[in-house]
Amino acid sequence: MDNCIFCGIADGKIPSRKLYEDDEVLAFHDIRPIAPVHFLIIPKLHVASLYDCNHSHQPVLGKIMALSGQLAREQGAQDGFRCIINTGRVGRQEVYHLHVHIIGGPDVLPGMLVRK
Ligand code: AMP
Ligand code: ZN
Repeated sequence: MDNCIFCGIADGKIPSRKLYEDDEVLAFHDIRPIAPVHFLIIPKLHVASLYDCNHSHQPVLGKIMALSGQLAREQGAQDGFRCIINTGRVGRQEVYHLHVHIIGGPDVLPGMLVRK
């Protein structure tokens, strides 16, 4: 996909700090981390968001989720972490290539959402 920053990272045209790669998925450190452990896992094939997924994406989505715990542990999140998939305007998605944030570290994370 032209002009997609994460396709550029998946293709190796844009540099990233990779921590895992296979034929279908790539994990790399977030460029603006919000916690000691903060990396992204993406499918290499472009899909814009969860809205755009269908049954054909099930294997790669399953692989991403199945990898998340192992990679989080390896990066130092030993006592829990959070997976976040921001989707669309309301979800405040900034990069429209599906990605799972893995966020953790030694301290307890803030509450997921503030109750009104
Ligand atoms: P969002 O689309 O809001 O779920 O988040 C996009 C995330 O991508 C943000 O946390 C950015 O810091 C991160 N990001 C944007 N560009 C890059 C890049 N070139 N390398 C690594 N992370 C990036
Ligand atoms: Zn893309």
